[in-house]
Amino acid sequence: MEQNLPKKYHIRTYGCQANHADSNTIAGVLEALDFEEMTDPIAENDDDALYKLLSETDLFIVNTCSVRQKSEDKVYGMGKMIKKVKTEKGRKPYMVMAGCMVGSVTGKRQRYAFEELKKKTPWVDYYINPTQILNIPEILHKNGVLSEWAMKKFDPSTATAKQSNPEHAFINISYGCDNFCTFCVVPYARGEEVSRSEEDIILEIRHLVLRGFKEFTLCGQNVNSWGLKTSEKFDVRTGSDQAHEIESVEKINFISSNPFDFTMDLIEAIKLPKISNYLHIAVQSGNNDVLKKMNRRHTIEEFIDLTKKIKKARPNVEFGTDIIVGFPGETEDQFNDTVELFRTVPFNVAFISIYSPRKGTPAERFYPDDIPLPEKKRRHADT
Ligand code: SF4
Repeated sequence: MEQNLPKKYHIRTYGCQANHADSNTIAGVLEALDFEEMTDPIAENDDDALYKLLSETDLFIVNTCSVRQKSEDKVYGMGKMIKKVKTEKGRKPYMVMAGCMVGSVTGKRQRYAFEELKKKTPWVDYYINPTQILNIPEILHKNGVLSEWAMKKFDPSTATAKQSNPEHAFINISYGCDNFCTFCVVPYARGEEVSRSEEDIILEIRHLVLRGFKEFTLCGQNVNSWGLKTSEKFDVRTGSDQAHEIESVEKINFISSNPFDFTMDLIEAIKLPKISNYLHIAVQSGNNDVLKKMNRRHTIEEFIDLTKKIKKARPNVEFGTDIIVGFPGETEDQFNDTVELFRTVPFNVAFISIYSPRKGTPAERFYPDDIPLPEKKRRHADT
């Protein structure tokens, strides 16, 4: 690679806001290393766009998601196109796989063997765990993608997350999850729950405000348990409206919340005027036995009660939620409890997904996937 020509990079991101926020961080680091982004080209279809990107970029990062088999299959499917480009163009970019597919096999909580992922993705040159994204300069340098000269020139303080909207920033405030819902890969893929310190987060928000940002979305796999684990948890928590006090901040969103970790002081905080009206609280099912099998640690009555408390605190609140249909053993009556929930809680948005067993999770290990696909699809349509 020519030392004086800017190298081109592309990041393909799958999954949640937290993953997109990580991709923004990676982009910020690469641009501080003088890489130039190649955005999605205008093309007939996704295959053409991918062919063009693989033909012209020097570094291609796939930031993966493991929540459903579908998102993993899309990544596995890239192998064919990479082979095609290599045969026809005689080159391919340096391929880096990041995100939850890697986290699931390289962290302390492995869902299955790393070797299995490597066998399925021989086209990957380097795998980085979600906790390693800031090590990208050293990794690229060690693997000959980044020159000694560029490494010497790199100033980490100039690497700020690249936001796609100049006024709205996504900020990860916590990583990982310790709730172990039986269907979920996050505790494995993202590891233990870690909250960034309030100081760190406020510093980043103040820095972004100076760059003209006005709206902030605070992200975490389980955002409302931020600061709950550390010994200082309550001190930090009471201070959590610090972001709200920053003058130029106009709007604060936070995503995604778990009903189990929704505390009274958080209900107090959402009364604050700059807090968004939209609140995403994943409920997953309307039936207590299903919730129990999911290890969701709250009942449907507690969830409904929580939404009432929130509505009282913020009458114009709009609720969004996540629902899984076709969970192992889910009877017609249990499914109808979920449908019934929509009559009790006025959700504005609901992401309904069909249960797909995730390798290595408790649900996959202990519960047979016994609801036939046509029936899952029928329930999906009826929700
Ligand atoms: S709380 Fe959310 S992220 Fe954590 S295990 Fe449950 S579903 Fe997954």
